[in-house]
Amino acid sequence: MPSSTFDAVVIGAGPGGYVAAIRLAQLGKKTALVERESLGGVCLNWGCIPSKALISAANLVEDVRGAAERGVLVDAPRVDVAKLRAFKDAVVKKLVGGVGQLEKGNGVEVIKGTARFVGPGAIEVTSAAGTQRVEAAAFIVATGSRPIEIPGFAFDGKDVWSAREAVDLPEVPRRLVVVGGGVIGLELGTVYAKLGAQVTFLEALPQILSGIDPEAVRLVQKGLRQREATVHVNAKARGWERRGAELVVRAEVDGKPLEVACDRILVAVGMRPNSEGLGLAEVGVKIGPRGFVEVDEQCRSSVPTIFAIGDLTGPPLLAHKASKEGEISAEVVGGRKSARDWVAMPGAIFTDPEVAAVGLTEEQARAAGHEPVTGKFAFAALGRAIAMDHTEGFVKVVGDKASKLLLGVTICGPEASDLIAEAALALEMGAYLEDVALTVHAHPTLSEAFMEACKAALGEAIHALNRPERPRREAKA
Ligand code: NAD
Repeated sequence: MPSSTFDAVVIGAGPGGYVAAIRLAQLGKKTALVERESLGGVCLNWGCIPSKALISAANLVEDVRGAAERGVLVDAPRVDVAKLRAFKDAVVKKLVGGVGQLEKGNGVEVIKGTARFVGPGAIEVTSAAGTQRVEAAAFIVATGSRPIEIPGFAFDGKDVWSAREAVDLPEVPRRLVVVGGGVIGLELGTVYAKLGAQVTFLEALPQILSGIDPEAVRLVQKGLRQREATVHVNAKARGWERRGAELVVRAEVDGKPLEVACDRILVAVGMRPNSEGLGLAEVGVKIGPRGFVEVDEQCRSSVPTIFAIGDLTGPPLLAHKASKEGEISAEVVGGRKSARDWVAMPGAIFTDPEVAAVGLTEEQARAAGHEPVTGKFAFAALGRAIAMDHTEGFVKVVGDKASKLLLGVTICGPEASDLIAEAALALEMGAYLEDVALTVHAHPTLSEAFMEACKAALGEAIHALNRPERPRREAKA
């Protein structure tokens, strides 16, 4: 069996692994990156990037539909599905090619194949070309996660889609049922609704997007209603069957049976870590009850030569969390002092309106022992948002009442996913509400809403009336 030796080997080339490999090479380590499918992993190939290509195109369709109201007269838009798919594929190809160039340019050796540990310092990589042994002083495992399959809804790629098939845009079905009102279901369901499908969401919990500010969730639901989508909460999907030309999904809503006829079904009920089949447990790596690899703050597993990062190590399952852990683990392997100690981990949901959040919500701040003070500013009062004709949503800030330290920000509205970056920086730097309020923000921009919300929390908003805070009603015993 052929054999090679490296200082470090990264397994999995998603946003965690490919970043780790680059950082290792930057730090002078002879590095290999093992990948069985495509560089870029789920994020670049079947997740974040292709879905955003579809979302931007679907937004364009809606902008064209609404253009007449702003005095721009165009014919009703039609969607060429094959061309839109080709656009999405071209976006993916460009970025995957870019990752390949970065690895090569940094001197990382990319090995195609499936890795399996045969000891704490060695793996075997199998591909169509055969099996090779690869040894290293350190391994960073970044094999990500895959969609959970639920009973009664086996993915068949034709009638029942996972996110991977939905992102591939095989067609725009007339009627789509989305099982799971989480991030993936809502982002992709919104795309299909904008492209013309009649979409029904089935969410098992009492709220879609659980964990997100309920006020933002209400606006997302309003947006779905405006696009003729239906949302059922407390709705457990039980199974489906074919009846003639259509599919019928069986669900239980508030304990009562419901049947929804459709043409395709998208199931997005969460992700499961890819921790099996790698030989991890066999070499002594501790894996928790939900399949996530247990790591310390340096991303080191219970076996000192093996690190794990990204989705494999547990929530939040976010590409940027994986990338950050990729850098940290590479730096630890490279002999630097590095550890996970982020204050701010932003999240962005590309619904319509978009929702983004960082830090604590009001409830979380209270639970953490703060007496919170909040400030809110509506995009409906902001010049730039009005000029863009996108006035839905708000920026809400949470601070500590006594010290005025900024604790958290939720943004629901236009470009929320980009606007959250300033809030993340403010939190990471330990900003006070006053720091943001005193920072001059360019006018007219959407970013002014964050400044105004901080001013509102201080009772000093300029473009909104400052009303004294109403005393909180105590919950009845
Ligand atoms: P999720 O956990 O966000 O949502 C899944 C939802 O499905 C939950 O609300 C759950 O209650 C519901 N559900 C489970 N079983 C059900 C059933 N039988 N019937 C009806 N509903 C059911 O999972 P997801 O949307 O699949 O996303 C997976 C992960 O990927 C998440 O952790 C998410 O954070 C991440 N992700 C993030 C982004 C982003 O940040 N923009 C984008 C895509 C994915």
